[in-house]
Amino acid sequence: MASDTKIICFRHCCSKSIFCKNVPKICPICRSSIVNYNIEPFLVPYPYSNAKDEPTSIIVRPSEGTFLNDYHIGDDLHIGITHSGGIVVEYDKKGLIISDGAQWTNCIAINIIPSSWKNHWTETLKLILKDTKWRSENYHEITMNCFNFVIEFINNLRYIDNKYIYFDNKETMCDKLILPKLQDAVKYNSLFKQLKSTEYVIS
Ligand SMILES: [Zn+2]
Repeated sequence: MASDTKIICFRHCCSKSIFCKNVPKICPICRSSIVNYNIEPFLVPYPYSNAKDEPTSIIVRPSEGTFLNDYHIGDDLHIGITHSGGIVVEYDKKGLIISDGAQWTNCIAINIIPSSWKNHWTETLKLILKDTKWRSENYHEITMNCFNFVIEFINNLRYIDNKYIYFDNKETMCDKLILPKLQDAVKYNSLFKQLKSTEYVIS
């Protein structure tokens, strides 16, 4: 995370959280000098990561632009998978793409397996990469896209956290897997935007 994207949170005199880029000497709520805190300042967890640092994960980014600067709820998302070495595998109109993830430096990464499942992940990925149906000619914006690829991969894995998981469509996968992470990200984006024009956000 670049230092200009950091957000700090603390509480001083009440149960309201104060979000800021730099901790002030005077509390913006009670206007007294800050000696002690109700909650010591901490960095709000940055919701985005570089795909190459997130092996064996499902990765999501906006189809256009970046989450932090461009994304609005409802915008198209692109989804991919990382290999155990952090290599990115994705399916789009060009077919299967295996890359170092230059387009994925600020993505949402969702880790769905325990580390003991790494080999199973790798084997499942190897098999789907051999499947000739993921060719560019078969790509279809609605019925055969990056989501279909990832859903098939997850369904082939069969287990997530030792629970049998099967997604029959994009909507169920989005609701169960992506939405909770996306909500955190959207909250972060909103704070980030507000802190461009104001010193504190109190909530
Ligand atoms: Zn105060």
